[in-house]
Amino acid sequence: MIVMKFGGTSVEDSGAMRNVASIVRRNIVRRPLVVASACAGVTNALIALARSAREAGKEKALDRLEDLRLRHRKIAHDLFAGEVLFTVQSQVDALLDELRDLVKSIAILGELTDRSLDTFAGFGERLSTLLLFHHMKQEGMPCVLVNAQEVMITNAEYTRAAPMFAEINRRAREIIAPRLETGQVVVTQGFIGATAERIPTTIGRGGSDYSAAILGAALDAEEIQIWTDVDGVMTSDPSVIPEARVIEEMTFREAAELAYFGAKVLHPATILPAVQKNIPVRVLNSRRPDVPGTVIVARGGENGERVVKSIAYKEGITLITITSTRMLMMHGFLARVFEVFASHGTSVDVIATSEVSLSLTVDSRSNLDAISVELKKIAEVEEEHDKAIFCVVGEGLKKTRGIVSTVFSVLDREDIPVSMISLGASEINVTFVVDGKDIQRTAQALHRAFFPDR
Ligand code: ASP
Ligand code: MG
Repeated sequence: MIVMKFGGTSVEDSGAMRNVASIVRRNIVRRPLVVASACAGVTNALIALARSAREAGKEKALDRLEDLRLRHRKIAHDLFAGEVLFTVQSQVDALLDELRDLVKSIAILGELTDRSLDTFAGFGERLSTLLLFHHMKQEGMPCVLVNAQEVMITNAEYTRAAPMFAEINRRAREIIAPRLETGQVVVTQGFIGATAERIPTTIGRGGSDYSAAILGAALDAEEIQIWTDVDGVMTSDPSVIPEARVIEEMTFREAAELAYFGAKVLHPATILPAVQKNIPVRVLNSRRPDVPGTVIVARGGENGERVVKSIAYKEGITLITITSTRMLMMHGFLARVFEVFASHGTSVDVIATSEVSLSLTVDSRSNLDAISVELKKIAEVEEEHDKAIFCVVGEGLKKTRGIVSTVFSVLDREDIPVSMISLGASEINVTFVVDGKDIQRTAQALHRAFFPDR
């Protein structure tokens, strides 16, 4: 079997849903489990709805609810007619009526707990999958809608509930597997689950990828497909590098490295259950389904023809240089420095140390003044803003001669000053810091060097 997960933009309207159905049909021999997100923007709208029920009272919230009703009704009207339309419409309305009752009770209580918020947030997926399921059925596909709340059992940490893997595995095999075996396409919701006591939960924003990976791992999928609205993971940011292209294959570690740099396609932590079971995860574009996308595999890549997979950067970085005023770092100095950052909840990203000083980067300016005041009690502190971290990523990068020297000779040739370098931490990246104004030049020069035109 395979898992096919469709994100919000892939199910945003009737056209998108038709397209999903045709993509699923083409894969039907592979026994797909379809995991869908809410229509794009609906989860945000539901959360706003819940908050407005508490803050702005019933009337305003009920207006927002009508917007949601209209949006889903329109999809139903586009996709269905006659008897089927009537059935779907009444199911959509039943869900929205349930939601309306919730709005009223929140407005009366004037209190919105995380538990209630999860119940609100889950309606998006319940609505989108209802529409998608009926459409696929109408198109003649043998399919069944499975309520994720019966399978995705979680703890009660509302808004970011933790999946209970053993129970999910058991239920997935009991509820989903037999239906796939009889040749039915199973449609279910991403993102939502329930406690063992059947109280609705969600597993965190953007959680549908995680749902897909968990279910795929539970059912020993051959492949997990993440259908989105981009062609895959790119060699670099296409807005800066027009020649950037799709990476055909990359490892999980490479993907994890890139995630920090805003490769927003997919958060690697969410596919960990798949990786642990060695199930390939393929990122695909539902608008261009014939593009092969990027496949993320657990291991490998070291002997590929291209060692460098991607050139990523992150802007708006602050570089902080901390020099011990006692000239030599006392023992415990680093611990004290990091304690200051930790106590302000600020995470430190790249670090380089020497005997007397320490350079590090942070990506938010919040709390920096307070941090600086505290650090100055033990050291000299210098802050430089508007820097950018660059990261050249590739499995086997350290084992391959010439990569590191290519990076820095390119920078040298382009006369781009580098303020910090980090090489040791992981085997798969070279990281350095440049001025924000040099981002474009740096990215272009490196991309040219590592991805010459075919
Ligand atoms: N609909 C949920 C969200 O917007 C989950 C997802 O799209 O993955 O966060
Ligand atoms: Mg979404």
